[in-house]
Amino acid sequence: KGLSLWEAIKNGFTKVSGKKLKTLADEFIYPPYGIGQLSDNFKEGIEEAGSSVMTGTKVVKVNHENFHVSSITVDNNGKQYDIEGKEFISSVPLTHLAKMLQPAAPADILEAASKLRYRDIVIVTVMLDREKVTDLTWLYFPEKDMPLGRIHEPKNWSPYMAPEGKTHVVAEFFCFKGDRIWNSSDEELTSITVENLEKLGFINKNEVIDSYVVRAAKAYPLMEVGYREPYEKLVQYLKNFKNLRPIGRGGLFKYYNMDRAMESGIEVAEEILGKKVLE
Ligand SMILES: Cc1cc2nc3c(=O)[nH]c(=O)nc-3n(C[C@H](O)[C@H](O)[C@H](O)COP(=O)(O)OP(=O)(O)OC[C@H]3O[C@@H](n4cnc5c(N)ncnc54)[C@H](O)[C@@H]3O)c2cc1C
Repeated sequence: KGLSLWEAIKNGFTKVSGKKLKTLADEFIYPPYGIGQLSDNFKEGIEEAGSSVMTGTKVVKVNHENFHVSSITVDNNGKQYDIEGKEFISSVPLTHLAKMLQPAAPADILEAASKLRYRDIVIVTVMLDREKVTDLTWLYFPEKDMPLGRIHEPKNWSPYMAPEGKTHVVAEFFCFKGDRIWNSSDEELTSITVENLEKLGFINKNEVIDSYVVRAAKAYPLMEVGYREPYEKLVQYLKNFKNLRPIGRGGLFKYYNMDRAMESGIEVAEEILGKKVLE
């Protein structure tokens, strides 16, 4: 939306004078029962069209010959089997895709893959016996001594995100798998969250009625100094596979939001159908 740093600074002053603010998002559309409704509806559409969606099934190998993928090996509850296909579209993290190739990718490609990192995330939800805490969509905490990176209150996105008279605040801890935050117990993480929310004046400890912790690996592709060279090397190598197309945020190692991640899937589908030529 063209929100520059200068615009943001000007906003700081115009806010006082009461002029209209320009922000990243004035309003947005959100599914009443949460973002999972999008994938539920996709699944329904795919099944109505006579195809199927398999969940709880992990791709463990991408089998190929002369840069042509013939099948993938999947693991479902310890049971492994192959699925053949003509076209393969992958949204698994790019680095992981390279490591799943069978026969294995050359050593320098695997080395390039190991140089690219993702940032992981721990999410702590605190359920509260209160109608509402804030009127905010997101709130960021850049302070070094504040362990929470960001909070949001889903009820501000849709009133159906919590029962009447209750709400929940979701805290995000940006971290690396295996570090102190990632390895903390659910109880420790909940207690850090509650303590800090109370210190910030948002909640009282005695309002907390429940909590839930989720650890999500590879949440953010990490564009750190020096990432470009191994990234280009990996992408160029994977381009040799004409019937294997990476898409999405982790799959393309791009800092995409949901709209762009989905669009990247639509684009390759159109390419396969011969409606579009991608670079
Ligand atoms: C905390 C947080 C908040 C965000 N908020 C917003 C927001 O408000 N708005 C917005 O537009 N975007 C937001 N995003 C970004 C958004 O989540 C991503 O852009 C989007 O999910 C990317 O979709 P994707 O399909 O590319 O990847 P993903 O949603 O990551 O899907 C990849 C899938 O592949 C699966 N997978 C991985 N390996 C394998 C394997 N070997 N076999 C089978 N499956 C595998 C994973 O389990 C995962 O389900 C947020 C992201 C985070 C982390």
